[in-house]
Order: sequence, then C-alpha cells, then structure tokens
Amino acid sequence: MCGIVGFTGRENALPVLIKGLYSLEYRGYDSAGVAAFTKEGLRVVKTQGRIANLEEKIKEEGGLCCTCGIGHTRWATHGEPSDRNSHPHLGGKDGMGKVAVVHNGIIENYQDLRTRLEKHGYAFQSETDTETVAHLIDYLHTGKQEDLAQTVLAAVQRIRGSYALGVVSLDNPDEIVAARRDNPLVIGLGKEENMIASDITAIISRTDRYIILDDNEVAIVRPDGVTVMNEFGETLDKPVQTVTWDMSAAEKGGYEHFMIKEIMEQPKAVGDTVRPRIQNDSILFEECGLTDERLREIENIHIVACGSALHAGMVGKRVIESMCRVRCSAEVASEFRYENPIIGKKDLCIVVSQSGETADTLAAMRLAKQAGAFTVAIVNVVSSTIAREADGVLYTWAGPEIAVATTKAYSAQLAALYMISVRIARVRGHISIGDEKALCAELRRLPRLIEQTLACKEQMQRIATRYANRASVFFLGRGLDYAAALEASLKLKEISYVHSEAYAAGELKHGTISLIEKGTLVVALATQPALFEKTVSNIREVVSRGASVVLVTTDDFTGDESVCRHIVRLPKCLSEFSASLSIIPLQLLAYYVAVERSCDVDKPRNLAKSVTVE
Ligand code: GLU
Repeated sequence: MCGIVGFTGRENALPVLIKGLYSLEYRGYDSAGVAAFTKEGLRVVKTQGRIANLEEKIKEEGGLCCTCGIGHTRWATHGEPSDRNSHPHLGGKDGMGKVAVVHNGIIENYQDLRTRLEKHGYAFQSETDTETVAHLIDYLHTGKQEDLAQTVLAAVQRIRGSYALGVVSLDNPDEIVAARRDNPLVIGLGKEENMIASDITAIISRTDRYIILDDNEVAIVRPDGVTVMNEFGETLDKPVQTVTWDMSAAEKGGYEHFMIKEIMEQPKAVGDTVRPRIQNDSILFEECGLTDERLREIENIHIVACGSALHAGMVGKRVIESMCRVRCSAEVASEFRYENPIIGKKDLCIVVSQSGETADTLAAMRLAKQAGAFTVAIVNVVSSTIAREADGVLYTWAGPEIAVATTKAYSAQLAALYMISVRIARVRGHISIGDEKALCAELRRLPRLIEQTLACKEQMQRIATRYANRASVFFLGRGLDYAAALEASLKLKEISYVHSEAYAAGELKHGTISLIEKGTLVVALATQPALFEKTVSNIREVVSRGASVVLVTTDDFTGDESVCRHIVRLPKCLSEFSASLSIIPLQLLAYYVAVERSCDVDKPRNLAKSVTVE
C-alpha cells in the first residue's frame, strides 16, 4: 500500500525519486510528494493526485536540484487525500521545518502525541497521523547532541502502530534515516549511492543488491555507506541479497495494461509454481516444513487470507475437505484475529498473500503461531515479512504482479493449494500412489488447459462490449463454482466499479432474487457434473424473471442450455481443479468491461496492491 523511495548519491536525485515513485505506483495511492535538499534548504513539493501532477508542480516551482531526497505516494488513512495531507511532512515550530518525514502505515497513538506536542507549541498543518512523527522527531532532536538516527530510535519507541519511515534533517543534508515496523522497507546498495524503497521494483533500475530492514531496526543511509541498528542502537551485520528476477517481467511488453499481460501470463505462472514441486509423479514439499509426519498429524486446517487470496482459500478449503477429509476452514484474516479462534497445537494454518505484507494476514498468522499451530505461507514476494515469519513458505512463482487486481498470483495460489491437498491426501492414505500420479499429471496439464481457455478472449471482449453498461451483475455457482463466482464478482467490482454480487446458486431464492429484473446480467458457473441439473434449475429461475444469462461451463455440459444467451465452454479438466479454468473468462470479462468503461484498469480508485494497514 502506497510507497516510499529515497536516494542519496552524487547525481541529481529528482529523476531517481520520480522513477522510483512510478515503479511503486501499482501499490495504489492518492497523492505524491518529495522532499529534497537544495541550495535554498529543505524543500517539499507535494500534491493530491498522480505523480504526473507532482512533476508538473515541481516544474512550475522552478525544479528541484538535489543529490539527496525522499519521495512518497500516499494512500490516505488519516485525513482526506489533499495537498495538505500529502507527505512529506515537516517537523518543527513556526513552520520552520528542520526535518521531513515520509511514512507508510498508521500511528495508533497519534491523537495523544498530537495533544502533547501542541502543548509544547507545535502547530499542525495536516490531519494526518504522520505529522506527529515529524514534530516528535523535531522535539526530541532540538537542543540535543544526538544524531538523527538516535533521535528516530527514541521517537519510534514512543510510537504505537505500524510504520515504514524515511526521515531527512537539515543537520545532515546527505543522510536518510529509515525505520520500520510491520511495513516493508528495503535498502538498495549502489556505487557511491544508496537508496531506500518500499520494495525492490523501485531500486532495480539502479542496483540489484539490497538489504531488507526488519522490524524495529533503524538504518542510516549515506552515499558512502549504510549502517543498520537494532532497537538498542547496536550495529547489525545485515545480509546483502541479490535480486533474481528479470526487469522485463515488471514492464508491459507491448500490452495495453499490466492486467491483460498478467492474465495472459497465467499458464507460465501456474507452470512455474507446479513444475519444480512434482518429482517422480509425486509432490515434494519438504521445502516448507510440511513433512509427512506433520501432515499425518494435522487435526484441523485454517486457511486465512483477505480478498482474492481468501477466495483462493475458499477453493482450497473445498478441494482439501473433499480430497483429504480433514476439517478445513477459509477465514477472513481481519475477523479471524478478533474472534478468539479455536486453534490446536496440531492444527495447520495456511496463510495466503500475494505481497506477503498484508497486515491483517500477518497479524492472523502471528496469532496462529502463538497458539502453537504450524504456519505455512503461500506468498509471491520473496523475503516478504509473512514469508520470513511463517514456519514454512510455499512460494508461488508468478513473477512480479503489477496490476492492483490480482490474476496470475491468484491462479498460482490455487495451484499451491491443490498441491498441498494432493500431498495431504496421499500421506493420509485417502488416495493411492496411482491416484497421486494421475493428479500430478493433471496438475502438469493445468498450464496447457489455461492456455486453451484463454482462447475465449475475443468472445469475452464481445460479451463485455454488449453488457458494459449494466448497473449490476450477478454471479451464481455451487460448491467450487461458488468460490470462483466470488472471485469473478470481486474482479468486476474492483476494476470496473460495476456493482456485483456472487451468490451460492441455491441461496439466491432466499432473498436476493428480488433484485433480478428484466435485463439483469447473470453469469452462471457450472463445472461440476454432479451439480449441473441443480444449477440449470437456478438459471431457469432467473431467466423467468428477465435475466440475461452467460453460462460458463465445461465442454461436456449435459444440462439444458437453451435459455442461456451466451455459453462459454472450458476445456475438460478434473472437476476438483475447475476453478483454475472458470475464472479465466471472468477475469477477461472484468478486464474488458473496465476498458469499455474507460476505467484506470491497473490502478483502480481507492485500492492498493499491498494492504499494509489493518
Ligand atoms: N497514515 C498516513 C496518512 O494517512 C500514511 C498513509 C500511507 O501509508 O500512505 O497520511
């Protein structure tokens, strides 16, 4: 969610900061700003809106020539998106900002800090929680000999909440101090220049070497070196990591939007996730601590996640329960943490998060860990916080996902959950060696089947053009189709702003059917042969009330399809894995409806890619 970038070196920092901010754009934001040391002192330029607006404003104000600065994209939590509330915020009395601060996260005790600082004569310019940090640092710094890093260390000890911070002070014009707790921050290591950033996409054009800042650490970043301290001020020897993915993966490569590029990349994402884990016709999982012994002993499984990852979990729950006969729940992370969940020591908690930084999921995972459960994270971003804190990690090798609405990471999450399911079923004797072999073959076939399914692209574009003006769309399905319907509906809502509901097909008549009227678009999913007839009855119910129905079904659908306006056929696949195919046309539908409605597909309003606040 939102982003931080900072640069200190010999070159002009402004283009580096702006480029860094652009590469963090995908995380979602509503305002942008920079603070830099120029000949005239510490200057801040910030504005509500896009980074292009910021560039414009900087130009109007005569440019910014500097070799050290910090930049920010804000996703408002405290105070509306406005110029005033944008970051950086200056700390100091009488409008004399000596320090500038950028922050991602939430300061929970900001009200208390603000009242106290006001008593000490600080006047606040914004409604943000962040401004308290800026003044607090100034307050603790004024009149003391301590260097900036010591002051930041003292300040964060007075803060409750989550933060990634970038701080600069007039006292040291080539130094950036960074700190983090529960919000990501990396330090890029260059030649006679160093950077800070929310993630490596912002540093990768200048260096592939980086350090991950951990919770409660503070870093001093200068052109000639980086020092990282723990909360006691002791210097740490942090491991230097190297970026392994290819820069081109984070570029559009000829597509109009990242989203369509990522939809088309799904065969590869699933293939890369599955292939290395299948050896000799069985699934190998020792990498994430899921030993046979552990799998045999599991009493309950909790899948915990948010948004699309939760929908992947809902598919996973159905597949696991039917294949392994182990009780499995799929739970909303932000609810799980506060409902006093029953977690046993022999329970397995699977958390799912593309970014690996989702605050709600992270907190839920910590809770499950504390209760003694074994935690496994299905995560796409290597070395992210959830990946590092989980007992075991199963990486989805989907590559960088830039569009805010997830597609390929979701598909890779499904594949990871299927693999866990097959492995548990085998270890616990619910399937034979032969069954496992057949299931592995099906898993290996999935990328090809997804590829074939993508051939419905033009058909979905035509359907989207025809129905893009509808005010409301319903998605219906039973069982796995219901889980897929939830994800399809979310995709449409997220990027096209069309109201939509997903309903368990049999549940509609218990109330919601009153919303169906002449011309309402209903998308029905029917991929489970055992439920074909039941779903057809539900389709008839809505058609009788005037709905236009798009049916997404398999090649061998045997029900009566005569009342449906459009039929989208999926290649035949094992019905347990059908959610991997049925979502493809519906991602495309959402995409083309959004394009038709001229929406900002890759950066939908109000949304953030990596949701690092609770
Ligand atoms: N809570 C801060 C604000 O509302 C920071 C939000 C962010 O992470 O961008 O300004």
